[in-house]
Amino acid sequence: MVDVKELKKSFGKLQVLNGISFHLDPGKILVLIGPSGTGKSTLLRCLNYLERPSNGIITIGNVTVNARAAKKKEIYHLRSNTSMVFQNYHLFKNKTALENILEPLLSVKKLSPSFANAEALRILDEIGLSEKKDSYPSQLSGGQQQRIGIGRAIAVNPKVMLIDEPTSSLDPELVGEVLHLLYKLAAKHTTMIIATHEMEFARQIADHVLFMEHGQIVEEGDPMTLFTAPKKERTRQFLQKFS
Ligand code: ATP
Ligand code: MG
Repeated sequence: MVDVKELKKSFGKLQVLNGISFHLDPGKILVLIGPSGTGKSTLLRCLNYLERPSNGIITIGNVTVNARAAKKKEIYHLRSNTSMVFQNYHLFKNKTALENILEPLLSVKKLSPSFANAEALRILDEIGLSEKKDSYPSQLSGGQQQRIGIGRAIAVNPKVMLIDEPTSSLDPELVGEVLHLLYKLAAKHTTMIIATHEMEFARQIADHVLFMEHGQIVEEGDPMTLFTAPKKERTRQFLQKFS
């Protein structure tokens, strides 16, 4: 479960998040859409305190952190309930596919080497990359690298996966395989918050959509309503660019 109340974030004088509140039930998928520079990435990064919010109360699973009085231990706990998938994969270049997935199993989940190895092989199978286990990132396509990034994120069995534009670094022909994997995770009821510019993907995968602009939620709703019959003129304008 994710619950966010009055989240705000400024960089100096620039107020980037202007009081964001939402709730997400376990197993559900929230998609963030909105123009570039609107604060989607900042919101994702505030949720796990990669950026420290200026205000707001965040609950993820069994931990609640109030930005006004955040304790180190709580932040650590909050972070350990999440995992993040980045636009640029964030893999260890000197580790193989298998070793990249082993790393969080050993260092975060603290599994014994033999358990970790078995689990990493299972994840490689789940992401469809068993035959690439000994390849280094430089020997993999962008889509394959991103699937390893997603494999690393599922390895820690997080309460919520925070996924920032998982396909925007990819050549168009590689987008499909990454989206396919995310649909597979959705079918397994993985709780996810995804920022994306892929509207068709957003419409298909989301349980709930937030349309953001200037650090605020302009409109939110179920994808069917938001994409086909938006209530706000601004939402309609934004969506028109994609049709
Ligand atoms: P995009 O769709 O292009 O990814 P976004 O919605 O993810 O955009 P953010 O990356 O969250 O937008 O950025 C929101 C605003 O915050 C932008 O004006 C950006 O320049 C600013 N910003 C983000 N990170 C920092 C930072 N570390 N220091 C200063 N300003 C920042
Ligand atoms: Mg972004």
